Amino acid sequence: MDVVGSCCDHLVEKNQLTNSLNELNDKYQKLNKFHLALLKIAQLSAELVDIDTLYQQIHQIIKSLINADNFYIVQFNPDDQHLEFVYMVDQRDLKPLNRIAIEDFGGTLTAHIINSGQPLLATPETFKQMVNDKVIKPCGAIGIDWLGVPLIQDGTTVGVIAVQSYTEQTRYSQQDQELLQFCARHIVAALNNKKNHQQLQEAVELRTAELKEQIRERENSELLQESLLHISELNSKKLSVESFYDQVRNIIGQLLSCSNFYVAKYDRHEQQIEFVYFVDQLLDDTSLIQARTTRPAGDSLTDYVIRQSKPILLTKEQMFELYLNGDTREPSPHCHSWLGVPLISQGETIGVLVVQSYNEQIIFSETDAEILKHVSHHVTTAIKRREAIEFKEAAHEILEQKVQHRTQELKLEIEQRHLIEQKLKYSASHDALTSLPNRAYFLETLNKEIEKNKGNQHCHFALLFLDLDRFKSVNDSLGHHAGDLLLQQVAKDLSSMVRESDMVARLGGDEFVILITHLDHKSEASEVANRMTDRLSQPYIIEGNQVQIGTSIGILHGDSRYQDALLMLRDADTALYQAKGAGKGCFEVFDTGMQQNVLDAINLEADIREGLEKGEFEPYFQPIIDLKTNKIVGFEALARWHSSKRGLVLPNDFIPQAEESSIIGDIDLQILAKAIRQLKQWQIEFNAPNLYISSNFDYSQFFDKSMPGFVASLLQHTKLNPSCLVLELTERGLLDNDKLVIKNMLALKKIGVKLALDDFGTGYSSLSYLYLYPIDILKIDRSFILDIEHNPRNKAIVKTIIDLADNLNMLTIAEGIESAYEANYLTDLSSTYGQGFHYSKPISARQAQQVLQTASL
Ligand code: C2E
Ligand code: MG
Ligand code: MG
Repeated sequence: MDVVGSCCDHLVEKNQLTNSLNELNDKYQKLNKFHLALLKIAQLSAELVDIDTLYQQIHQIIKSLINADNFYIVQFNPDDQHLEFVYMVDQRDLKPLNRIAIEDFGGTLTAHIINSGQPLLATPETFKQMVNDKVIKPCGAIGIDWLGVPLIQDGTTVGVIAVQSYTEQTRYSQQDQELLQFCARHIVAALNNKKNHQQLQEAVELRTAELKEQIRERENSELLQESLLHISELNSKKLSVESFYDQVRNIIGQLLSCSNFYVAKYDRHEQQIEFVYFVDQLLDDTSLIQARTTRPAGDSLTDYVIRQSKPILLTKEQMFELYLNGDTREPSPHCHSWLGVPLISQGETIGVLVVQSYNEQIIFSETDAEILKHVSHHVTTAIKRREAIEFKEAAHEILEQKVQHRTQELKLEIEQRHLIEQKLKYSASHDALTSLPNRAYFLETLNKEIEKNKGNQHCHFALLFLDLDRFKSVNDSLGHHAGDLLLQQVAKDLSSMVRESDMVARLGGDEFVILITHLDHKSEASEVANRMTDRLSQPYIIEGNQVQIGTSIGILHGDSRYQDALLMLRDADTALYQAKGAGKGCFEVFDTGMQQNVLDAINLEADIREGLEKGEFEPYFQPIIDLKTNKIVGFEALARWHSSKRGLVLPNDFIPQAEESSIIGDIDLQILAKAIRQLKQWQIEFNAPNLYISSNFDYSQFFDKSMPGFVASLLQHTKLNPSCLVLELTERGLLDNDKLVIKNMLALKKIGVKLALDDFGTGYSSLSYLYLYPIDILKIDRSFILDIEHNPRNKAIVKTIIDLADNLNMLTIAEGIESAYEANYLTDLSSTYGQGFHYSKPISARQAQQVLQTASL
């Protein structure tokens, strides 16, 4: 039994132990659960869940510990004494209350806990007691047990959590209360954490929002800055007015709605508004163009902004209000919002910038007005800068035009100067009369040609030196103008006879030079000279007068010995001189022997001049015989030169040179003067008042107007009867049928002087016009008398001349009668007078004196 007893004891003990163990295990399980729940609650605050989820999760945790099918959480704010059901799950579908003041919630179990700060397990009995004690009011859903615990933070109740049962099966114990209380403490911590976290998050969000706002503002402001910068930059681009405002509009468009936009410029002085830019959704292209016009200032909203000189932001209503107040005209019914800002420069409104909206959704704000105001400053600056640039450009353009104009003027001036320079150069290098190159230019060209042919043994160029034979007589007879015309024609003719590469130049007077280059043969130069002498021997018609000139040419071939154009010119001149000496009208090619001739001629001329000064020229006298009576009727005065250097020189040795040097006239006059004096003396001495003197005058004397006056004064001086003076001239003087010659002849006739035509028959004078001249005596040339005895032709000529003279009432003098036959023959032909060696050679005055002494006069 004992064993059984002890076994039973053991069994009991074992059961007890097992029960204890089970209990302990239960307790442990519960505790473990409890710990886990608390841990979870503690973790909850750390989890990133929203507060509602947190409440749900708290609910779930509590539910795992006690029956919490009906559960709610109330938060109480001790500061404002308001409470709020933040979480509620209720099987009877009780709805949580919104925020409510504690005083309005009095008499409730929840309010009781808030006020008492104590947990409460309200069983139906306790509830009843409390109602009776008027601690609470019978309200809300009446259940079985109600368990609520305060949420206490820092000694202050900040909320309540409560569970409620509506069935008998669910009852709450003191243990549940403690459990809930325990949970409440952790819930407060978790909520607190959560709240702090949320507050932090809110603070972060707030700060983030603030920062975002700041960023947005900054972005806006940056956009604004950027836009303003763009506007400022517009002027640096070369834009038309249209594109300039297009761009302004684009930029503004980034900041605010700009579908309807215009810019008006205001001219205060003219009281005018110019719509420089206009974009409008309601207008088509044509109307837009029309909108961009100028009109006088008026009563539009634009004018209103100008008057107010400040930004004007208007709603539709405000626009109508302005209209009704009489401030503006009736606004457009389409416009919902209107924003205009003035463009102000230096305190003066210079225009308006306007945006308007036809869309109800787009209403401009004060911010827009602020932005547009900002923009307007920059647009004003841009406009002003643009105007300044335009002004500058216009000024620059004007300046440019002026510069261009001046440049043009200068160009013209330079061109004119250049022209003048060229003309000067031309006139410095050309002869004004003939337009041919002048001496300087010719010499320059000739020097170049010499240089070009240096070292070339076979120089193929030639120089022609040309002089007109009877130019002086043309000049003297027809005047200088005619002479000039003749020179022009000759220049033209000469130029036409050479090639382009040759050069015809005028050295002066009637002297021309021709440079002929590219010669294949020397004979080509002679051919050119030949053509020229031929052409110039043809008559020229000058002002209706026919003139005969002729030319002599000196040719010089280029030679490597010549280093200087002047030397070439000198030698060509020598050849010319030679050509003239050879009888004129021909050409001569230079050879070195000519130089001596030239030197001789130069010396002779110098001696003649000296002789003239010394009075070395004196007349010899050849008696003129009346053939019928054989008496001396007069003397021909023939020049003789008693040169101190050369001895007695006969006319043929000095007259050609004197003619060439144009000093023949001085010799004539010296001879005449001496002859007249001598005759006067003989007339007196031999009482022969009719004895006359016949003196030779070179033909050129008859082209000198002063000649008759000079002769008259000589006659007056010696008191010689003018009828005792005969002046002889050769046919050459009559050749040109010159008026001046006739005039001089008539003047001499008027004085009483007689005229004889010397050497008649040798010249070219036509017998037919002899009657034109007031000639008294024909002197038949010696050549007809010379072999008259054997030459029937001469006989006939002499007879004809005598008959002609007779018909013309002229005397005849036969020259060069050398024989008695000639004398008799001429006497028979009734030639009036005669002279010749048959009677006497020319004799000195002394010898003539002796003859006169013996002769019967
Ligand atoms: P001229 O006027 O016909 O003069 C006549 C020339 O014939 C003179 O030559 C004279 O000596 C020459 N003579 C006269 N009778 C005979 C003769 O029977 N037989 C030959 N063989 N000759 C005879 P001179 O003196 O040598 O004069 C030559 C020419 O010079 C003149 O020809 C005249 O044209 C010119 N002359 C002479 N003195 C002057 C002068 O003072 N002034 C001008 N301008 N010419 C003059
Ligand atoms: Mg004579
Ligand atoms: Mg004669």
